[in-house]
Amino acid sequence: MTIQSPALSSENALDALLASYAVGTLSPPLHALVGSHLALSAQNRSFVADLEAVAGAALEDMLPAPVANREERLASIFATELDDTVTPMGRAHDLMPSPLRRYVGIPLEAVQWKTILPGVKEYRIERSEGVDAKLFWIRAGRKMPHHTHEGSEFTLILQGGFTDISGHYGLGDIAIADDEVDHRPVADKDIDCICFAVTDAPLRLTGPVGRIVQRLFGH
Ligand code: ZN
Repeated sequence: MTIQSPALSSENALDALLASYAVGTLSPPLHALVGSHLALSAQNRSFVADLEAVAGAALEDMLPAPVANREERLASIFATELDDTVTPMGRAHDLMPSPLRRYVGIPLEAVQWKTILPGVKEYRIERSEGVDAKLFWIRAGRKMPHHTHEGSEFTLILQGGFTDISGHYGLGDIAIADDEVDHRPVADKDIDCICFAVTDAPLRLTGPVGRIVQRLFGH
């Protein structure tokens, strides 16, 4: 038996990411990544809405006096979120959902790509305090070189898709590779893959995020 810190399974890592989003503790690029995931894919919207409701209730538990109009307030929070994330996005013009476009600051057409390998271009948006946020353009069928990460890598697919040892990821999916994974994504054969990748500290199901996930799935 090997002794190592238990890494989150990719399913738990995604739960931790969504819970952190609901609590509002993600870095700006990861917040944009999850908001864009919710805009592109209906799969986790209700789960995140549940998390936000639990997070809201947990916050109220900490307040000294009862808060009036809780339902109304939550409804208005969700309405704002929906405005942000679930509106149609004019995809014909831009593959970036509005949370990502706001974060990047320019439309995809204006991005100045830098070729880093044959068939692989990148555009770095931000690198600060352990957070590295980039857009990647990977030619159809291209194999990325083997690599590991410092921290976890979260990748949102904006066009096309790729396959790595953990499975296949398509439009709107989030692939999570922790710092121990040595992986080699291969872009789908039929279409260039465009994705938004953020490297950040590994997420753990501890603290407020862990308590919220426990409240949802515990008992
Ligand atoms: Zn990677």
